[in-house]
Amino acid sequence: MVRLLICLALPRIRHPTQFIGFCCSMDTAPNDLLYLTIVFTSERYDLIIPVFLRPSGTECTSLNWKATMIRWQAYHTPQSIDEALGLLTRYAGRAQLVAGGTDLILDVQQGNHPVPEALVDVTTIRGLDEIRVEDGWVIVGAAVTHAAIERNPLVLQHGATLAESCGVVGGPQVRNVATIGGNVAHALPAADGTIGLLALDAQVQVCTLDENDLSCAWQPLLSIFAGPGRNTLGPNQMLSAFRFPQLQPREASAFDRIMRPQGVALPILGVAAKLAFDPSLARVVQAVIVVGPAGPIPFRASGAERELTAAETFDDGAVEAAIEAAQQQAALRTSKHRASKEYRHEMVAVLLRRVLQKAAARARAAASQ
Ligand SMILES: Cc1cc2nc3c(=O)[nH]c(=O)nc-3n(C[C@H](O)[C@H](O)[C@H](O)COP(=O)(O)OP(=O)(O)OC[C@H]3O[C@@H](n4cnc5c(N)ncnc54)[C@H](O)[C@@H]3O)c2cc1C
Repeated sequence: MVRLLICLALPRIRHPTQFIGFCCSMDTAPNDLLYLTIVFTSERYDLIIPVFLRPSGTECTSLNWKATMIRWQAYHTPQSIDEALGLLTRYAGRAQLVAGGTDLILDVQQGNHPVPEALVDVTTIRGLDEIRVEDGWVIVGAAVTHAAIERNPLVLQHGATLAESCGVVGGPQVRNVATIGGNVAHALPAADGTIGLLALDAQVQVCTLDENDLSCAWQPLLSIFAGPGRNTLGPNQMLSAFRFPQLQPREASAFDRIMRPQGVALPILGVAAKLAFDPSLARVVQAVIVVGPAGPIPFRASGAERELTAAETFDDGAVEAAIEAAQQQAALRTSKHRASKEYRHEMVAVLLRRVLQKAAARARAAASQ
């Protein structure tokens, strides 16, 4: 039997990386099934393989293939920061850095990010996947994955809150490829790894290429955020590493979050804290508390920190005063897919109480060893 099938694929207007397919079939026997596989490959389009079957007999059908065209034309694997930033400069805004791709590729697929002409992979840069100690700092390369951070002995010893926050990102498949640099650069106020790093009072190393001159400088991590999903990096810049101080006696940190049941992406709320106690272990002399999402950028609860360090003793009264201050200062909001503002308000209390008690117990246990 002769079958004539005419298909037309059109990009969706709001999501140009997805396609609507229209097919008309003629001369098909009733109840037959038509199988069709189309593979588009060309210089501009990497690959699209919509596969569908449908009962024949109907004249024309509109199919939403939801197939994806990823249209970058080059994928670079630089060996050095110099080379990576050189590539970014050469493409003059048409290339994008990529690490694990777990944020970027989804954004491109969903039409939330323009399709870059080229991708520059930072995970092939030498040294960017290392964790080491240097001059009293723990240094974590920007291309270290969450899985590597979660089980690294140095991070476990000196930055428990970072190990705990990276250990809950997505599922194992995501954690095996997603990086701490990507988490920070994506600049979401609820990003788990970012919150863990901030509680350690971390700094970020930003590298800049100016007319073939490469320079790298440390700056406070908080200074890198410009708004939800926006960082302060220029087109000739990238993140190369993070550093936080080695843990001192009577110091400890902790992280906790609340997630939608079955949820795998960002949390309803995450809280991280680091505490330092005086020699008697009764009084907090230094506190860092981070809550997210509680504003357009990751939020340091400075009022709560002050309550803790002002208190004569670290007791229930001090913890409740810190909770009240954090609740007052946090700019919580209702989000459609996660939780109401009121629920988040309650969760600030639950999580902060839990995290402070966990950090205090850890500091006291370490001091008694
Ligand atoms: C199923 C799923 C579940 C997830 N769950 C969580 C979760 O529970 N918690 C959470 O916080 N996140 C979650 N995420 C988001 C994501 O996995 C993380 O934010 C991850 O750390 C991003 O890292 P990446 O290496 O994949 O970044 P990429 O997607 O490769 O890059 C993200 C952005 O960072 C830029 N970038 C990457 N590296 C650098 C660098 N060195 N310098 C400058 N810019 C750079 C890229 O250009 C891009 O704009 C989830 C994602 C998925 C798909």
